[in-house]
Amino acid sequence: MKILGHTSKSYADYISKKLGKGAEHARLLYREWFQEGTHVGKDPHFKNAPALLKEIIDLTDFSALPFVKQGDEEKTEKYLLKTADGLEVEMVCLPMPAGYTLCVSSQVGCRMGCAFCETGKMGLLRSLTTEEIVSQVYQAKHALGLNVHNIVFMGMGEPLDNYESVMGAVKILTDVHAFALGPSRVSISTSGLVDKIYRLIEDADPAINLAVSINSPNNAVRNRLMPVNREYDMATLKKAMEAYCAHPRRRIFAEYVMISGRTDGLEAADELALYLQGLRVTVNLIPYNPQSKDRFAPPSAEDVDAFAERMRAHGYLTFVRRARGKQIMAACGQLGNTKLRRQLSSLK
Ligand code: SF4
Repeated sequence: MKILGHTSKSYADYISKKLGKGAEHARLLYREWFQEGTHVGKDPHFKNAPALLKEIIDLTDFSALPFVKQGDEEKTEKYLLKTADGLEVEMVCLPMPAGYTLCVSSQVGCRMGCAFCETGKMGLLRSLTTEEIVSQVYQAKHALGLNVHNIVFMGMGEPLDNYESVMGAVKILTDVHAFALGPSRVSISTSGLVDKIYRLIEDADPAINLAVSINSPNNAVRNRLMPVNREYDMATLKKAMEAYCAHPRRRIFAEYVMISGRTDGLEAADELALYLQGLRVTVNLIPYNPQSKDRFAPPSAEDVDAFAERMRAHGYLTFVRRARGKQIMAACGQLGNTKLRRQLSSLK
């Protein structure tokens, strides 16, 4: 069994069911694997149990997705990992004062088709399994040696379109025997899959952050930018966000990609302020980062500042994700690059 796809409990249960013993030793080995990156039985409890250690190891697959060799053009914080069936998964590691923020992918491609998004242009090849998601974090921590401080599900894919695997990964990220990340260090993004937001309300620790890609304050524009809006319009999305915020510890991050001439005007800021009224929300403005042959243009720095100021004047805590946005495009998905896209299209 693949250890990266399991919580300490499910791993210990599996081992004890298989061997009729060894639950506690399994938990110790699990901890060693996730926290130190080895499986040699370092804990003193293994000293007198070498046969049991071997039995546990024999039942366990310790592999993680390998890195794809990076070309010169990729000397950034972006990394590609390869799945067993030859697909490439993109991960971004961003240095922050307290440690690294990892932007992980939940799918290869995405079926949501947002008009401004590189990943959306690929279509969906497949969703990642829990262990493929966790692999990204494991490799960042142990192969790259990074101090992983935060995880954001803002890589390739719509995380809530791969709900079970993403929630499975969140359990492992927050497992005290695995990565032991506090739930507030995990952020899940969505383009607005309302049915899954209601599931999150039931399932997720309230400290987990939810980022919703709003990107336009009105249905007509949002319909054009984000096809999901035709299934769940803005009023339906607002109700779901209100339900989410009903818990006093829950807060929403409203992600807003600013596109010149489409979403960057002050009237859009006023409309956005009205739309978000009543929600416990932080606004993140992401100046659009044009890709090759793109039909959209980035906003001017003056327009971004004016928009941010207008949102603050309306009373919203507002940030501009300028530097990071240039590097990773920052909203849900929007990783992807033309090289990766070519590889993906040839596999379709
Ligand atoms: S912005 Fe997010 S949901 Fe939309 S196509 Fe890109 S990855 Fe998918």
